[in-house]
Amino acid sequence: MSKTPRIPIPPEVRKYVFERDRYHCQSCGKTNTEANLNVDHIIPLARGGKNDLSNLQTLCSTCNQRKRDRLDPRFKRYFDL
Ligand SMILES: [Zn+2]
Repeated sequence: MSKTPRIPIPPEVRKYVFERDRYHCQSCGKTNTEANLNVDHIIPLARGGKNDLSNLQTLCSTCNQRKRDRLDPRFKRYFDL
């Protein structure tokens, strides 16, 4: 499998993901008023993940940092395997 190139996530896609997740971190549940939220790739690009809405989730910067490139089953919530 070839590696998906890392492309910048367009602002409207980020907004869509945040709104879908109701501005809650999908790991710890913090909101945008409590933490800095990021759009995260559920399956990391380095592991063949896609730049696709089904592979994107809201994570706060703390959880995002903790996750790194490790694949945790909790992050598969929105991913149909
Ligand atoms: Zn979090």
